[in-house]
Amino acid sequence: MIRVGLGEDMHRLVQGRRFILGGVEIPAERGELGCSDGDVLAHAVTDALLGAIGMGDIGELFPPSDDAWKDADSMNLLRIAFNRIQALGWRMVNIDCVVKCEKPHILPYRRQICESLATVLGVPPEAVFVKGKTGEGLGPVGEGIAVQASAVCLLEWP
Ligand code: MG
Repeated sequence: MIRVGLGEDMHRLVQGRRFILGGVEIPAERGELGCSDGDVLAHAVTDALLGAIGMGDIGELFPPSDDAWKDADSMNLLRIAFNRIQALGWRMVNIDCVVKCEKPHILPYRRQICESLATVLGVPPEAVFVKGKTGEGLGPVGEGIAVQASAVCLLEWP
């Protein structure tokens, strides 16, 4: 059996916060606002995985109202979610992602981001892909006040 999952997320960009994508910190003027570390890509990937098997969503597993997740490392949340999915016998086939932000450019960090996600998901780096897009000056992404991420994943059950 195979199952597909979709995840999306958006975070406000503000000064004084770190900009982290898939566990990789990227130098930037503004960073992601969030009750966790704000890693928008990790959140989208986590929701894609959970959605694929109908296990709920990231907000249900890790409620923002729960102080346990305040300033949490989002890659750790992804790891916890994936471990639960793996425990049911599911295996990751591949994951494909889009990150939309005006700045910074993520291409120089793509390889590192793919490797970081692949490590947590137990797949080779080529099973994870991340594309960077700008907002062409349009909307909150284009104005540089938001970063958005989408992810689709394919899970396989033997
Ligand atoms: Mg989020």
